Amino acid sequence: MEGSLDPEIEGKVPKIKEGAIESQVRRVENLITPIDFRWDEAKLQDLCDQEIVEAINRVKIYGSEIEDKLFWISTNNGFFSVKSCYNILTSNGASDKSIWKEIWTAKIHERIKMFLWRLAADVLPLKGTIFESTGKGDPSCSFCGFTKEMSSHLLVECPVARAMAFSSKWGLRLDSVASSNAQELVKWCMNPSHQLCSNLGRKDYTSLLLATFLYIIWELRNDKVYENRSSIAKASARWESMVEEFKLVALDKSAIALIARDDKSLVKVLAAKLIPSVRPDIAELKAIECAVTIAKESSWIEVDWLCNARLVVDQLNDSSEPSEWESWSLVKNLRDKLKDNNWTIS
Ligand SMILES: [Zn+2]
Repeated sequence: MEGSLDPEIEGKVPKIKEGAIESQVRRVENLITPIDFRWDEAKLQDLCDQEIVEAINRVKIYGSEIEDKLFWISTNNGFFSVKSCYNILTSNGASDKSIWKEIWTAKIHERIKMFLWRLAADVLPLKGTIFESTGKGDPSCSFCGFTKEMSSHLLVECPVARAMAFSSKWGLRLDSVASSNAQELVKWCMNPSHQLCSNLGRKDYTSLLLATFLYIIWELRNDKVYENRSSIAKASARWESMVEEFKLVALDKSAIALIARDDKSLVKVLAAKLIPSVRPDIAELKAIECAVTIAKESSWIEVDWLCNARLVVDQLNDSSEPSEWESWSLVKNLRDKLKDNNWTIS
């Protein structure tokens, strides 16, 4: 199998470190140890940056338990279509996701998403924008007063925004941000440059950090306008704590849990585990996988399986080929294990 490794790896094919031999990363089998069938950690570290290594490590290897299958990843059902191929060829490699879709699917707190949406839609009540549409009021920047208060100035060009970004623990420099309008600013957040990511961290963390920054600057500006008070030091501290808080909730971990009761309804096993953040249906599948392992290790024979995610249950009980490629191997593997033990899930 060539190419794709993890849907979370941008472009689906892992980027390799400068100077590393590209042909080594073209085939997945070259990155797997032949004897115990694990990711070859030493090779991964040699070839890829930490972010990529982590993404690859999130992909579970099922070894010889199930056979490989080819998927065309540009369609939802995994089958090739001329239309999807045409779309790839004509999109010049650019992401075909609209900025709106990117905002709503980002791993960012809802409050920040709403702010990004208002920013991209140009509906923030900026003094410069209000002046341009009504000809009324004072259009100058609420912080510096030097220039018109437009989103790109207020949020990244204004000396106040720059001072706050640079004085933070991340030492973020905004002087190289080239964004002439609000949508570009949102794109700068949602698709941070490689340079920014290498300074700040993995892509979703960098996005979270930048989006939270813009949000905090907007809050600081509102404090100044409506309450005539604003403290860069306080805003900076709030930014840092928000990033920490949101990082925990949105990026780092999903939690899975399971309960096993005996025939008298007494709890026999109560288990919970943190896993890297994944889609809810995949988290559900992983919880079932964990439960199956516990049941097998405990040699339980008769088990009534209950799961409250209807879609996941249907997928496991269906006998046709799973069509969704991201969860394909997990579904196949679980179906086999359930069948081996004569278990049915409902
Ligand atoms: Zn200003």
